[in-house]
Amino acid sequence: MSGGVIDLHTHTTHSDGSASPEELIARASSKGARSIAITDHDTVDAFAEARAAADRFGIEFVPGIEISADFSPGTMHILGYCVDDESTALKEKLATLKNAREKRNPEIARRLEALGFDINYSEVVQTANNNVVGRPHFARLLVERGYVRSIQEAFDRLLKKGAPAYVEKARLAPADSIELIHRAGGVAVLAHPYQLKLPSYEAVNELVAELAALGLDGIEAIYSRHSQAERSTYSEIATRHHLLVTGGSDYHGSYKPDIDIVTGLGDLEVSYALLEALKARAKDRVTKPEAKACDPRG
Ligand code: AMP
Ligand code: ZN
Ligand code: FE
Ligand code: FE
Repeated sequence: MSGGVIDLHTHTTHSDGSASPEELIARASSKGARSIAITDHDTVDAFAEARAAADRFGIEFVPGIEISADFSPGTMHILGYCVDDESTALKEKLATLKNAREKRNPEIARRLEALGFDINYSEVVQTANNNVVGRPHFARLLVERGYVRSIQEAFDRLLKKGAPAYVEKARLAPADSIELIHRAGGVAVLAHPYQLKLPSYEAVNELVAELAALGLDGIEAIYSRHSQAERSTYSEIATRHHLLVTGGSDYHGSYKPDIDIVTGLGDLEVSYALLEALKARAKDRVTKPEAKACDPRG
């Protein structure tokens, strides 16, 4: 059976989403999803709760992760699917990435204070419930304090790359991000390519050629904030380089209030067939069957 809608890009309270893994699975179920990937930033802590909830709701759970790679002018995020959360290489690298956040985050708080905002870092950590702290948690606190009207405004005025309270953090090189996901038995997918902010089709095409040579497996062409034209263009680029096409909403609950799970901004539709192709690729990759995180027959 190959019908059904899915969502391969979502965030929980373990990173910068507002829904717990269970709440997220429940919402996906109410929207008729057949399969859901959770792709928290730099953490796999949602997996256990999500697996149990997915079993109860009769949904297929796909273990995922989102890693921020070193890139400019825009941002490059690499999604990993069917990653083995027991992988030592993965656990070690995630600890390093959390350290890099913990170095950056207090500096963001200092910048905000220097700009005259009454924000101290321990309150941001509380907002994040002690999970992976990200810029959206700073944004939420700025909204709660009445400094800005929305999380988006907090990013536009203060937190986005190049804005006054933006602070760089150490990131993995694209090659290392892909290699890490592969070492954890997973499939590596370039997330939301519009965020790369590349100037032309040719520039995207050249970058994808480089990433494909490094082992990239797919492109998230079907994405909430991609226009229909972008979805077609990125799908075409994926096919051209023999890569998978994937899709997801980037659901963050109230941290991205316009984006819903499964349906995105209202026009998202990701078909189960894309996941079947992805699982087939994961199966080719994983050599130890006991480490298989996505069952291709599932
Ligand atoms: P961090 O990993 O802490 O640097 O935060 C990255 C997250 O912040 C992304 O996954 C988005 O959820 C959010 N974000 C980044 N840039 C923007 C932006 N320009 N507008 C709104 N949200 C953003
Ligand atoms: Zn996020
Ligand atoms: Fe992202
Ligand atoms: Fe995301």
